[in-house]
Amino acid sequence: MTVRVGVLALQGDFREHAASFERAGAETVLVRTAGQLEGIDVLVIPGGESTTIGKLADRFGLLEPIRTVVAGGLPTLGTCAGMIFLATGTTGPEQVQAGVLDVVVERNAFGRQVDSFEADLDVDGFDAPVHAVFIRAPWIAGVGPGVEVLAEVEGHPVVVRQGNVVATSFHPELTGDDRFSRLLLAMAGER
Ligand code: GLN
Repeated sequence: MTVRVGVLALQGDFREHAASFERAGAETVLVRTAGQLEGIDVLVIPGGESTTIGKLADRFGLLEPIRTVVAGGLPTLGTCAGMIFLATGTTGPEQVQAGVLDVVVERNAFGRQVDSFEADLDVDGFDAPVHAVFIRAPWIAGVGPGVEVLAEVEGHPVVVRQGNVVATSFHPELTGDDRFSRLLLAMAGER
């Protein structure tokens, strides 16, 4: 069976995610309406600008439908701004968030001089390090009880999983390393 992956396509690098999932053997749908969430097996929230993604998701009537499918157990991946969108809070001013991942994020957390950097990162469950590209990336400032931390940088969580939701501070979709995409496809296969 071909897995159908919906990539939220309001803003950000949704095309790179779609390409990664297609390389991994999935069929992809660019999601801009609530109806396009129907029939998908995986949901992806891309990197970009989390305030813009949140505002557009609200304006396009996607917030509640996204909350419903994620709460229903749909395997979901959020990267960078996508992680921020999925989270329950930030350390900064209030912004529109889906609130389906029990973490508080600090936006642009790595500071100005290292706004963007790359690192080889050990991620729990992967047998070789991930080359991680951080672009004005958040880190996680606090995690709720059901959240597993799968990788950290300088003691700050940067990859987490809470049941059906996986989130990364960096951009696996930009490096041609499709292991996160394959992980989500495997999660869809286990449902
Ligand atoms: N700095 C962005 C934000 O706070 C995230 C950057 C990214 O997705 N690369 O939304």
